[in-house]
Formats: sequence, structure tokens, C-alpha cells
Amino acid sequence: MAIINCPACKERISSKTKVCNHCNFNLVAGESTDGLTEEQLESKAKLARMKKRYSLQMQAMAGIILFLLGFVLWYFLGNRGLSQPSHFIELGIAIFGGAWYLITRVRLMTFKKKQ
Ligand SMILES: [Zn+2]
Repeated sequence: MAIINCPACKERISSKTKVCNHCNFNLVAGESTDGLTEEQLESKAKLARMKKRYSLQMQAMAGIILFLLGFVLWYFLGNRGLSQPSHFIELGIAIFGGAWYLITRVRLMTFKKKQ
């Protein structure tokens, strides 16, 4: 058994594995006898990377939207002197969205470094 790099996400995986356990790239389809060339394999891997990056970018955007939504609600409802409990929910949404955004940014950065 050898350790190879996944063609899609560049993570280290076993050469015996059929599907990458990091990005679900199908290595069997890539190496099967139905005549996939190196180029086709590379374009498949590129597509997988693009999909992953797109999904991360969407998650970062969702994080920002949650953050802004929570913050705006917190700010305006807070200014109207509404009850404390709802206050915490909005602040929680803002913090959750902000944290989600930051985590996704870090994941995007480490993801881009691998390319
Ligand atoms: Zn992979």
C-alpha cells in the first residue's frame, strides 16, 4: 500500500482507496479502462476543485449575510428598546454568521494554497 496525492484535492490518501475520503473524488472512474486520458482526468479534477471553491465561497457569503442580518436586527430592535431575550438571539445570529464567515475564509485560504 502506498500513499498518493488525490488528483482533485491534493490530500494524502491510500493508493488502494476507491474514493478520496477528503473530497469524494472517484479514483476508480479516473483510472478505469473506459479510456480516460490524463487530460480528461485533470479536467475532472479541476471541476471538482472549482465546485469545492464555489461551495466555500457560497458559504462565506451566507456567513456575511447572517452576520449583517443579525447585526442589523440587533441594532434596530435594540434601539427600539425591545425585550432582552430577542436581543440575544440577534446577537447570536450575528456572532454565528461572523464566525462561520471567518472559518470559511480560512478554509478557502488553505484550499487555495494547495493548488
Ligand atoms: Zn480528494
